[in-house]
Amino acid sequence: MADQLQAITGISTQEASMYMDMAGNNLETAVELFFSMSSGGAPPPPPTPPTSTLSPAAKILFDFPTYASLPEAWTNQPLIFNDTSSNFSLGLPQNKNGPCGILVSINALLLSQTLNLRPDANLTITPPPTPDEIYTLVSSILTRCDSSPKFVTLTTQNSLENYAVAPFPSTKTPDIAESLASPLGLLILLLSMIETRGVDKVKSESSMPNTPFEPLVSGPFNLCGTELINLAIFGKATPNVGAYNPDDDNKKVAFTPTPIGLISKSELSSVPVADHWKAPTHPIFIVHGGDHFTLLFKTTATNTPSPNTQYFAYNALPPNRLLCSLTLSGSSLTKPPPVTQNVHKPSHYKIQIGEVESIVQAHPSDKKARPDAWRRWRYELCIANEKMVSDDSASPERPNDATPQVKFELGPRPTNVPWRCVSCYSTRFSTMCFGQNQASDEVCSNCGKTKTAAGYTILKSYEELPPPLRRRIDRTENKLLSVIRTRWSDAEIKFGADATYTLGEADLSSLNVPCI
Ligand SMILES: [Zn+2]
Repeated sequence: MADQLQAITGISTQEASMYMDMAGNNLETAVELFFSMSSGGAPPPPPTPPTSTLSPAAKILFDFPTYASLPEAWTNQPLIFNDTSSNFSLGLPQNKNGPCGILVSINALLLSQTLNLRPDANLTITPPPTPDEIYTLVSSILTRCDSSPKFVTLTTQNSLENYAVAPFPSTKTPDIAESLASPLGLLILLLSMIETRGVDKVKSESSMPNTPFEPLVSGPFNLCGTELINLAIFGKATPNVGAYNPDDDNKKVAFTPTPIGLISKSELSSVPVADHWKAPTHPIFIVHGGDHFTLLFKTTATNTPSPNTQYFAYNALPPNRLLCSLTLSGSSLTKPPPVTQNVHKPSHYKIQIGEVESIVQAHPSDKKARPDAWRRWRYELCIANEKMVSDDSASPERPNDATPQVKFELGPRPTNVPWRCVSCYSTRFSTMCFGQNQASDEVCSNCGKTKTAAGYTILKSYEELPPPLRRRIDRTENKLLSVIRTRWSDAEIKFGADATYTLGEADLSSLNVPCI
């Protein structure tokens, strides 16, 4: 509850729990109280920080005062590796939003281990892991953290108060799978990883230079950072998965070999993920879509390059929990994994007259007529004018060896349709005026400039656009496709028995592909 109050009001954890206390743990009353007290009422007394009763290892994970106050997404998350609801016997179902990053990593490690232990298995139809296999999975995760693995056992059932830390059993036992299947299963594994690695070591590995330590589960939605993913896969709680050192823009030393890969939406905002994530030994990828993590994998260990490859996508979180089949196609599927440059270089160059400054929108009626088929739509484009070029003067010039951008001519503006004033549109962020005009307006009704002086947007179909702009639109229209293209640059996603339907071209309403 306090975390919900925090999300609504943006106050600190301590303040939120104080308001919750005052409101008798009623969220609605607490919200009312917060707003009444912060709008002219008496200021609340300074919060007294409660003494945390969490163990040092649990404090690495959470900034909460007691075990009872930990978010349910983390305290009710058994590790049961058999998703009967989506018919995926190796799937690790997630209960609530929060721990998706670490759950998907553990699930990916299980798939990778299954390919090692059952070389002939097909991952989507093989039986669920045995207790022995779960023991082996946990053993390998903990042994990567330290050669003397430790395991957390609960002294009271379903309670983390006063848990015990003992050496991890050196012989296979079903007790491990049984502990993980309890509601505290995820936390038992995470605390075991931290106790094994050592609290101080995890703390120093996960801290950024010159920045105070922050717990690994944070924010209003209690999401986990990449430290836990790195700890589970490599045994080291280093922050972030990027290719470059944050302080000097030089390439990081890669972890090799990497059993599983990771592709991320962060790459689209020019933070490439490290090379080792793109060249895993098994065809299994963690997909970071920005706010959620899912899995993408081939069903067998065979890595024979083929321009048409069947993959499975698995989303473990309701309401979209699903295992679905898709075909990736494209020449990049047969090529070696991409390698990032040695030093991070800017990818934005100074805009030139005639280049597309922005894609204003897809034509609303095209969008309405064929909701999924964005490649059948027309797009309204804003073309760069002299003012935009001078506003962008601080950006570096496009070097001669960089691919030139395609340029457009404005052409005469049709007179019988509404039009958008580019002069107004280019200052939309400060004015909130989007420059819309009636067909009959010869001068802009917002700024008073003539159509020719102000400039106007143009309309082009997807088909008429050059490949870089098509890619830009694909990127906006489909998150999964855009993330997949960070690994396979020209990939297309196809559906249907014979990969008949291409994502972006087909209407999907008749196809069972709800996870896209
Ligand atoms: Zn205007």
